[in-house]
Amino acid sequence: MQRILTRGEIETLDRTSIVRLITPVADTFSIRAQRLRDIAIDNPIEDYLLLIAQLADAQQQVFAQDWTLAALDETQLAQAQAHGMPPFSASSIKRDATWRAMLSAILEQLLQQTTHSNPLTDAVRNNLVQLADDINNQPELIEQQADDLLNQALERIDAARAPFIMAGLQVYWSQLVAGLESQKIPANTPFGLCPCCGNQPVSSTVMLGGPKEQIRYATCSLCSSQWHIVRVTCTHCEDTKKLAYHSLEEGSAGIKAESCDHCQHYRKIFYLDKEQFAEAFADDLASLPLDILMGEANFYRANNNPYLWQLAEQ
Ligand SMILES: [Zn+2]
Ligand SMILES: [Zn+2]
Repeated sequence: MQRILTRGEIETLDRTSIVRLITPVADTFSIRAQRLRDIAIDNPIEDYLLLIAQLADAQQQVFAQDWTLAALDETQLAQAQAHGMPPFSASSIKRDATWRAMLSAILEQLLQQTTHSNPLTDAVRNNLVQLADDINNQPELIEQQADDLLNQALERIDAARAPFIMAGLQVYWSQLVAGLESQKIPANTPFGLCPCCGNQPVSSTVMLGGPKEQIRYATCSLCSSQWHIVRVTCTHCEDTKKLAYHSLEEGSAGIKAESCDHCQHYRKIFYLDKEQFAEAFADDLASLPLDILMGEANFYRANNNPYLWQLAEQ
């Protein structure tokens, strides 16, 4: 593992010209699915990556459907502006029951894929059938499980079910924020949280090409929005002095863990000039060996990838 102690490059561009928010693109989940398939081969968790690729495909199908969601009114947006709060904060807005219909539609897509080249195992199929059943018969249980996931109540989370519930929540929140004009989002929301929905980033990416060249964006683990975070800054505690960059010796130079000796946390960072097609969720998941090394070096993951839940005791 490399340990680079220099602070590296600092952005020298005029920051006022930097695009500060990128809302999810129309094919965000299919890009993720394709990337998962591309990097799954010979990965230590190949089968799991292929399952999540199927899940992302199902998310894309449901994301592309026409759902009617209640938009925020001007008063709510003005309040968010006044208080510097993310307008679609998962902890303050009331979830529409539509998200459960979206989740049901995702599960239906997955369960219908009987002829898929990578069929579901019996264990996964039974898990999904049970989840679909609970959505219909115990919606209050599903709402509680969604709250536990959004609140990171790790002691109560069912790790086998969590990625699927998160998949439904992701589609719902991505639809809520898609097409949102960035000037409606307060400029001074809390550091390290998505300015749209208030959730933590899954990873961050240093962009390539055009006006975003070498600019770093964090990707929201819930709504897939990307927001600008200055490079060489801990995405967890905002420290700028005690950062180090780690990569696997045999791994890509475009995939690193950014660790912080101030808070002892790390998050992955992807450099598109070295790993052009890196995708915030897929590459984070596929670089699990780097998480193992970071754990051995006594750093903590800042938060879970929504598609893989490692609970406190694991
Ligand atoms: Zn978000
Ligand atoms: Zn830190």
